[in-house]
Formats: sequence, structure tokens, C-alpha cells
Amino acid sequence: MEKMLATVFHGENNIQVEEVPRPHAGPGEAVIKITLTTICGTDLHIVRGEYPVKPGLIIGHEPVGVIEELGAGITGYKVGERVLVGAITPCGQCRACLSGQHSQCGHGGEGLEALGGWRFGNTINGAQAEYLLVPSAQANMAKIPDDLTDEQVVLLADIASTGFGGAESGQIRIGDTVVVFAQGPIGLCATAGAKLMGASLIIGVDGDDNRLKMSRRMGADVVLDFRYTDVVSEIKRLTGGGADVTIEALGTQPTFENALRSLRPGGTLSSLGVYSGKLQMPYDAFSAGLGDNKIVMTLCPGGKERMRRMMSMVQSGRFDPTPLLTHTFSLQEIQKGYDIFGSRADNVLKVAIKP
Ligand SMILES: [Zn+2]
Ligand SMILES: [Zn+2]
Repeated sequence: MEKMLATVFHGENNIQVEEVPRPHAGPGEAVIKITLTTICGTDLHIVRGEYPVKPGLIIGHEPVGVIEELGAGITGYKVGERVLVGAITPCGQCRACLSGQHSQCGHGGEGLEALGGWRFGNTINGAQAEYLLVPSAQANMAKIPDDLTDEQVVLLADIASTGFGGAESGQIRIGDTVVVFAQGPIGLCATAGAKLMGASLIIGVDGDDNRLKMSRRMGADVVLDFRYTDVVSEIKRLTGGGADVTIEALGTQPTFENALRSLRPGGTLSSLGVYSGKLQMPYDAFSAGLGDNKIVMTLCPGGKERMRRMMSMVQSGRFDPTPLLTHTFSLQEIQKGYDIFGSRADNVLKVAIKP
């Protein structure tokens, strides 16, 4: 049987790069040869045992590659074409997809299983490998224009689509004041998204000098360092009583609570973080339930049309994700990538993996 190298999850803090059988495309599927992928914060949660996946699974969900095999029924594509596949792979046919909630494709099961549309490196084999089997390939492969490099598009699969999704779900209007809590890769893309949607004032919040610097580069007008600043009162001062939209991009109690406390009455909290444990809602932060606020959640929008739109933003020069790609490793060296990414060493933002 033909083999390939892949990053396999074996249990808490135990991933191995090893030889596994190479996938082949069945009806409606495709196989792509991965040319570039990344390590995501969600992969760290998996490796640390904070998000459950089955041992034996290949992890990773940010794939760029070249079509290697096309299964029966796939039309309009050729072997050898470069494609970007979103982290979320909607089928385009189920009740959720046809109701417009593509990220929730499948309306799957209970609890975390309900994240039906997120399959790669979650419920099926993922992208940190030499080859990747793409499900519902007709709905999920977006051809990469010749003038875009792999490095320019790889962060669109998840990070940028999620960050922009947070700005879109917050329904930012031209002239709004927007605060983005946490300036990791997703928060930085949310900052860029807020700018693209026409915010008049964007405030980036973090406690890391390098990330605050990048926040300005991605569009923040003001950056606040929570180590030295009472963030909520400073936001109230800068916005004249509270922001129109706050975006939470970390998934912790303090950032969620500060995002809630920084809103004007009637403002919207757009939550992007992945939370664990219990999230508490203090009655005063919640305006005792009388604040006319909205809290909205977003899972990364995927599918080929979303990816086409994301690539068009890079092609037109309106968005450049490449400053966020700070490190590159081979697949064999992926453990090194996990170590640097996990310890936030060397001013790392995103780690690219080249099989
Ligand atoms: Zn991710
Ligand atoms: Zn679906």
C-alpha cells in the first residue's frame, strides 16, 4: 500500500510524524497533495488534551495544495490545479447549509460534536500530512489564482475567515467604534476586518509588545496594553461611553467579561474565542439583563465561495496576511513548530508547515 507522512495524535502531549496509508478519492471526494499548511491554536488545544479527538487522527485544518486525484462526480477541476480548501467543509446540501449556516453543516449530535462543519483534524483526517482527502470536494475546493502564492492564501482557510467573520457577525457599520480583545492571529484578522468594514476607531487590546505593534499594522488606531492600563475605563473614555462593537478573540473569562463591560448600551459583543470550563455572566457586566446588547458567536465560514472572496481581498491588495506567517518548518520538524507556537517563543504568530 502507498504510504505518506502525517502528524498523528496519539494522546495528550503525544503527536508523532509517521507513515500512514495514503488516501484515495471516492465518489464526490478529492485528494490534494499538501504544499503548505499551518499549526492552529485549536491544534494546541487538541495536543494538550483540552479538546477531545480520537487517538490515531491526523490533525491540522488549514490546507493549500495541488489536486492529485478527483473522485467520480467532481466536475470543473483538473488534476494538477492549485486549490485552497477552507478549515470548515460544508456539504452544501444539508438542512444547515441550505438555511445559510454553512459552518454548522450537518447539525451534528451533542455538545462539541455539534460543530458539524469542522471535520479536518476533528472528525476526519487533517492537513498536517503529505496528502489530504477532501470531502464534498465540489463545494470546497477554491482554485488559487496564478498571481497568488501559497503563503498569501494559507491563512485565509481559517484565521482570516474567522477574524473577518467576527467583524461581519458584529455587523460593524461605517463609523462604528470597535474594540478587539486579544491580538493573536485571529484577533489581528478581526482588527483588519473591522477596518475593511468601515470602523472609525479601532482599539486593539493585548499584553504583548510584538502583538500590539502588529495590531497597529493590521489597522488598529489605538492599542491598549492590559498590563499597564485599566482597559475598560480607557475604552469608555476613548469611545464616549462604550464601544459599538467589541470582538472577543481568545476565549477566556476576563476577555469575555471586559468585552461585555466595554460595550455601549445596545452594542454588540462578537465572540470568536473557543472557551473551556464555565463562562460566568456577572449581573452588572450584563446590565442586569436590561442593556439591549447582543452577543453573537461565529465558527469559521468555509466553502469555496468564501475562499474565493477571501482570495479576492488579497489579490486586490486590500488585505495582506503574510506578516502573520512568522516561522516555517518541514513536516518532519513539526514538533519544533508546536514547541515554538505553544510557548509563544521568538515572537511567533503563525507557523507554516511545508510537507
Ligand atoms: Zn484553526
Ligand atoms: Zn451541509
